[in-house]
Amino acid sequence: MEPIFSDRIADVPKSFIREILKVAINKNVISFAGGLPNRDLFPVEDLQKATNNVFELYGSDSLQYSNSEGLLELREYISNWYKSEYEMNINVNNILITNGSQQGLDLIAKTFISEKDDIIIEEPGYLGAIQAFSVFRATFHPVKLNNDGLDINMLDQVIKTADSKIIYCVPNFQNPSGISYSYKKRQEVASKIKGKKIYLVEDNPYGELNYSGRKNVSFKKLVPEQTILLGTFSKTIVPSFRIGWIIAPDEIMERLLVAKQAADLHTNSFTQMIVYQYLINFNIKRHIEKIRDLYGKQLNAMLKNINKYFPDEVEFTKPEGGMFMWITLPEGFSTIKLFELAIKQNVAFVPGYPFYIGRKDTNTLRLNFSCSDEETIEEGIKRLSIAIKEILSNN
Ligand code: PMP
Repeated sequence: MEPIFSDRIADVPKSFIREILKVAINKNVISFAGGLPNRDLFPVEDLQKATNNVFELYGSDSLQYSNSEGLLELREYISNWYKSEYEMNINVNNILITNGSQQGLDLIAKTFISEKDDIIIEEPGYLGAIQAFSVFRATFHPVKLNNDGLDINMLDQVIKTADSKIIYCVPNFQNPSGISYSYKKRQEVASKIKGKKIYLVEDNPYGELNYSGRKNVSFKKLVPEQTILLGTFSKTIVPSFRIGWIIAPDEIMERLLVAKQAADLHTNSFTQMIVYQYLINFNIKRHIEKIRDLYGKQLNAMLKNINKYFPDEVEFTKPEGGMFMWITLPEGFSTIKLFELAIKQNVAFVPGYPFYIGRKDTNTLRLNFSCSDEETIEEGIKRLSIAIKEILSNN
């Protein structure tokens, strides 16, 4: 039978990671492959109380259809958070609540991307964004990510040669690399696009998972009229609620709202109310401190043990936040082959290739540190070092 699927969906790569990770499910395997927040930190009891509050306060009103923009009180809370934490002035009318920031990406792609439209993306880049923009058949222009952010010469070239409407980036503790843009790099990127017909999509799910205390300046502050900022409660409260937001200039917000209505009318309003009740009745700042404390310790354990066990020719990023670290083997080595050796040692990671456009293998890989305790991290890194030494000695 002839395939019945749209070209749009037929072209999108399946989640290769899922295939490769099936082997990592075995109980004996220490997995640095996942990308999940640590479930031990989910504020279960507080969310239960917040849910009861919603029923008690709003009864059947909490179960009715709601407006597309999202709960006003929640948007006000988010606006106040930017003001008090980052000295940013965000009007409530410029905030749209979405079904996680992943839906933000889908709505942006839907709103901006016609077939073959150019888009600039970090390399390596966030897989979910590659997928979201692929559905709308964007032409990707990857720009290398250096340790301090986008490679500015390459960005310059791509801006000159391609007609990109969008630059997609994760400037804080990026997924997959853990890299953050330096202040200088942020200024350079901002000045490159200022006044041009380019929007910068600043995806910031990890901003609050900051273990150094150094505050990073948002592109929304540097080029407000050209920045679309995405946020989420997935990493600070829970991911299952699927509550995120887009902050966009007025003229874009109008269009995004149409895309949002066409997609799902509105984000689950009951869950929005629970999040709001949680935020006003419990101490979110203290909760975020708890997350920072635990992940920060786990990150340090990973760095310490990499220093202790990995051979010198292996390079690694030194994240100051987030959930991921990026490892680079010497040129020419395959992290798919390394994966096979690592599984024999009962340790797993994500090979780097899915985070690039159109690559089948690379010498890079991603490690997650949010879900393993310090002892497990030491054991896992020790096992991984055995596999790395084996592959290096084989070539
Ligand atoms: N952007 C990036 C960079 C991410 O890492 C993730 C989560 N994996 C998302 C967006 C999606 O997060 P959410 O749960 O808010 O949809």
